[in-house]
Amino acid sequence: MNYIRSISLIFFVTLWTPIHAQDEWREKLDSKSTELWQPVPPVITPGSVVGQPPSDAIILFDGKDLSQWTATKGGDPKWLVNDGAMTVQRGASSIKSRKVFGDIQLHLEWRTPTEIKRNGQERGNSGVYLQERYEVQVLDSYENQTYSNGQAGALYKQEIPMVNASRKPGEWQSYDIIFTAPRFSDKGTVVTPAYVTVFHNGVLIHNHVALKGPTQNQGFPVYEVHGKASILLQDHGDPVSYRNIWVREL
Ligand code: MG
Repeated sequence: MNYIRSISLIFFVTLWTPIHAQDEWREKLDSKSTELWQPVPPVITPGSVVGQPPSDAIILFDGKDLSQWTATKGGDPKWLVNDGAMTVQRGASSIKSRKVFGDIQLHLEWRTPTEIKRNGQERGNSGVYLQERYEVQVLDSYENQTYSNGQAGALYKQEIPMVNASRKPGEWQSYDIIFTAPRFSDKGTVVTPAYVTVFHNGVLIHNHVALKGPTQNQGFPVYEVHGKASILLQDHGDPVSYRNIWVREL
């Protein structure tokens, strides 16, 4: 019994005493000593409602024109601008932003056709490529079976979205994407991979996922050294529409 009492006492002294001492030490401190007054975050004006661009956003498409975009096959993009949206024109090629970006917060809205003609990957397929390389899949995934790492919101062929938050075809949907660009050493090795966080219609579907490399349809991804690059919207042959595209550099 004495033995147990001794052991208990040792535990009591070793565990309780330092915590107790720390509390006493903390009580003597001025709470102001841990206040930080610098830097002061810059004041911005948030959007009128969630999803609308804040005052520090770069507007890439406000529904009026494609002046911020070029066709990936060269020249001005031939996508149709109508009723506040731009729509993929089959064979017009993908489009990419004229401005190039590193780490960003990106908001955009997309809509797949109401009329359903095909299924699987042939139904409302497009995509948002971060830095022209890393695809967040756009697809009509409302009651449309396909491989899970290729459905709407998938980090294509790399990461399955946590849930399927798809709306019905013909309804507007949103992506809010936080992208951290990969960092490379002078020798060309990956210091840190690209990280992606995605909200689909306000629902978190990827939380700081490390990408394995640029999106590949065949085989496995391998990183290549690159700097800032465009946001690219994919022409996969389906008339997918986009609107309200804005970005904040981080
Ligand atoms: Mg796609």
